Amino acid sequence: MVATSELVIRDLHATVAGLEILRGVDLTVHAGEVHAIMGPNGCGKSTLSHTLMGRPDYTVTSGSATIDGVELLGTATYSRAQAGLFLAMQYPVEIPGVRVEDLVGASLAARGVGVEGLAQRLNDEANRLLVRDEFLERGVNDEFSGGEKKRVETLQLAMLRPKFAVLDEIDSGLDVDALRDVARRVVAMTQEDGLGVLAITHYARLLTELKPDFIHVMMAGRIVASGGPEIADQLEEVGYEGLARQLGVNELTVQKPLATGKFEDPTVGSNPFADPLGL
Ligand code: ADP
Ligand code: MG
Repeated sequence: MVATSELVIRDLHATVAGLEILRGVDLTVHAGEVHAIMGPNGCGKSTLSHTLMGRPDYTVTSGSATIDGVELLGTATYSRAQAGLFLAMQYPVEIPGVRVEDLVGASLAARGVGVEGLAQRLNDEANRLLVRDEFLERGVNDEFSGGEKKRVETLQLAMLRPKFAVLDEIDSGLDVDALRDVARRVVAMTQEDGLGVLAITHYARLLTELKPDFIHVMMAGRIVASGGPEIADQLEEVGYEGLARQLGVNELTVQKPLATGKFEDPTVGSNPFADPLGL
């Protein structure tokens, strides 16, 4: 079967704690493509990943996100997973007492996927990702180092075989060897399984391994520039502030508005047409 899936995000606005963080995100990822989202700390990258996956407290005020035409927003997180979305979290949670095999087995079973030979498949995949046996025997992420957590997130990704994976700073906490192992496994999935990837990072070093087809720059809750590898070079040269100046963007991160009269009510999500950046 030729993989032709697409993840389409349109004009996505979302609020957290009453403040509009996502301010109109548009993005389309096709099967097999690798898209990188780069942006300074606090610009809304993780908010995008949580909003896509349906984390409570992240309120969508307008827009849509679909996989092959099926709306994800407003549905339960497990439905989004069933629709083919996977999130590798920036800060993976620790689940003492639940092994990776239990978690992956339950996830596959919930999707109606057979779990015969699961232990063997998990072992093979763990070998491929250089995850040591002891991490399969302990609870998921239970007292793992940052790097081990990211390898195990990638292990789950490889076992679950979603259509699209959002990787939220999969590079954080990884040394160069681990970064290369994880990135190569992800690239192989794009080639072998047609996985579409949305890789969030604020460092260029992931990009040298992941070689994204497209790079998007996020500032203050929206994508302000998109292009190819030249964008990463430009960022390397001028930094986020320099790029913002070149683009005429006056806000890098989402902040609580100052009482300058410049901004609308921070619960601006009630008005999806508000355009605080004037773009
Ligand atoms: P990034 O991942 O780009 O560093 P985040 O999406 O984590 O940025 O955060 C964007 C903004 O949203 C920040 O100002 C952050 O404080 C705020 N924010 C994110 N999540 C929450 C939350 N659960 N509660 C309150 N504020 C949040
Ligand atoms: Mg983040």
